[in-house]
Order: sequence, then structure tokens, then C-alpha cells
Amino acid sequence: MNSCGIYIHIPFCGTKCFYCDFFSRVADNGTIEKYLADLIKQIKSARYENFRVESIYIGGGTPSLLSGDAVPKIAEAVNMTFSVDPDAEFTVEVNPESVSVAFIKKAMSCGVNRVSIGVQSFDDIELKTLGRRSRAAEAKKAFSMIRDAGITNINTDIMLAIPGQTESSLEKTLCGLISLSPEHVSAYLLKIEDNTVYGKKGVQEAPEEIQREMFFFTSNFMRDAGYEHYEISSYAKPGFRSRHNLGYWQLKPCFAFGAGAHGFDGHERYYYDKNIGDFFEKKTEEYLDEKALAEERIMLGLRTSDGVCIPPDKISYADFLVKNGYMLKIGKNYALTDEGFLVSNKIIADIL
Ligand code: SF4
Repeated sequence: MNSCGIYIHIPFCGTKCFYCDFFSRVADNGTIEKYLADLIKQIKSARYENFRVESIYIGGGTPSLLSGDAVPKIAEAVNMTFSVDPDAEFTVEVNPESVSVAFIKKAMSCGVNRVSIGVQSFDDIELKTLGRRSRAAEAKKAFSMIRDAGITNINTDIMLAIPGQTESSLEKTLCGLISLSPEHVSAYLLKIEDNTVYGKKGVQEAPEEIQREMFFFTSNFMRDAGYEHYEISSYAKPGFRSRHNLGYWQLKPCFAFGAGAHGFDGHERYYYDKNIGDFFEKKTEEYLDEKALAEERIMLGLRTSDGVCIPPDKISYADFLVKNGYMLKIGKNYALTDEGFLVSNKIIADIL
């Protein structure tokens, strides 16, 4: 049996953050309940034989906006449809202002063993600048509540190069994180897309030099704190790499459910319509031939510190990058250094 992941998209949020490019919207309870019923129907109707589920990820959006019974219902549908490993990694995303102890306890009762919290910053001015609903004290309280409920694998998302962020305010956020001791940290450089509130208002991304400083500051800080920098934006304590995300980067199949959700069955990438009321059957598919799969494997593998095997005709280019500090050779693989991560798009384009 092949291993696979499952991704379930919950496209609802309390308000829209100014930088957010994810598919999510504000909705009333009736819309959310109807969506949930459609989602469960969709999961139960799936027919994927010969797959063993090693990770489940309920993301969004803000899954913690759902009622306490929603995650158990989703988990039940997944268990009825798929063969799920007893020790599968099962993550649910939450936001500090909407998560409750009852929600976490219910989620744990159906197998959730990892929680990802959208923290973004421990500086209230930055949170306000980003259009976040929560504040630093709320995030710290939510973290402690989740930990006290018994979750031993917590990810926190933070953002780098926020407008107005300084090295000292970033340090405050990182120190705040370390004092909570999450098992995993995802640190994303703020990118501004045209279709966001920021994009429409003409807010600019931080200059490259600032992005670079923030990236290196974070990488060095996290390494000193005992975390592995195992993917461009991901840091983990030993043994706590995200199995679900590793599946993406290793190009393992990941079956997706819900409006706007993206999946991959091993040869075909697909995504559902971004239409909450009618996403079920509306699927766009793209078949990847062997060449395209090989390219994806390189592109995704180069995001990780384990790297990837480089095609023979690109070895001299990779060796040149090693000499110049952009790559490392690890056994048969080539992996990007921090310096290389920062220009990964260019390097990947050159290799492909
Ligand atoms: S909470 Fe997350 S998904 Fe929702 S609007 Fe903010 S960034 Fe987007």
C-alpha cells in the first residue's frame, strides 16, 4: 500500500487579514453547516484504493471557527473512507481568538495530535498592521491552553518582514516563541499579492535587503535555540518535522477535499472550484508526465535541507553553487544553504 496524506479545507474566517491570499471568507452559521455537510459527503464518496493515510491536515481558513462536533465528524468520514495509520499525524489549524479548550478536547478525542496556531507576531502593533483579530497576550494564552489540554506537538506560524517590523521587534516575537517552546515553527516572509487588501492599497513588500536580514536573523536564532532549519520556512525540534508537509515536498499523494482544495494523486494535480455552495464536482485536473514529475521532485526537494539528486547535466552548475556557498553536497544529494534558500526561485529555474 502506498502512503498518502489527506488535506481538508475549511474556507471560513472571522475577518480577512490584510495580507491574506488564501481562499477564505466570512460566512454565517447556516453556510458553514451546509458546507460541512457537503464536505463530509465528498469525503465519503471518495474512492482511493490501496492507500494508507499517514497524515491528515484540516486547514483553512480558520477551522477553530467550526463547532466542537465538526472535527470528529470529519475524522469519522475520513476513517470510514480510508485506511488510516493508527499513529498518523493529525493536525488542525486554529487561531488564538477562536480556539477553546472544548474544541481542542473534542479534536483530541478523534485523533488530533498536532495543532498549528496562527500567531504571526508577538507585537500588537504588527498584529494590527496585518489586520489580525488576535493580540499577543491572547496567542500566549491560547498556546498554554492547548498545551495544558495535552497536545504535545504544536506548530506556530510567524511572519517576517511585516511593514514596520524591526530586528528588535522580531527578536521579541522569537523570544516569546522560545519561551513557549513549540515543537515546530513556520516563519514566512511576507509576500504581497495583488488580490489582497495590502495589494489593493499598494502596500509594498520590504526591500530585499530587509527580507534577507530578517530571514538570516530568524534562521540563526532558531538554530541557536535547538531547532533544525529543515525547509525554507520550517523549523523543528529534533523528531518534530511536519510529516504532512514532508509528504508534499517528497511528492507523495495527498488527497484534498473542500472548496479550493488542491490535491495530488501521484500523477495528477487537481483542485476544486472556489465556490463554497457548489465545489463538489467542479474539479480542474492537470496530468504530470514523467518529465514534469521529475521537475517537481527537484523543485520541491530543493526546498528542504535534505536536498535532492541533481540531473547529471546540471552537476557542474550545482558544484559551482557549492563553491559559492549556495549549496551543500550531502551524500548523493545537493541541498540549498540559507544563502541558497533566499534565491531558490532563481536556482530552481536555472536547474530546470
Ligand atoms: S486567519 Fe489565516 S486564512 Fe483567515 S484571513 Fe487571516 S491569514 Fe487568511
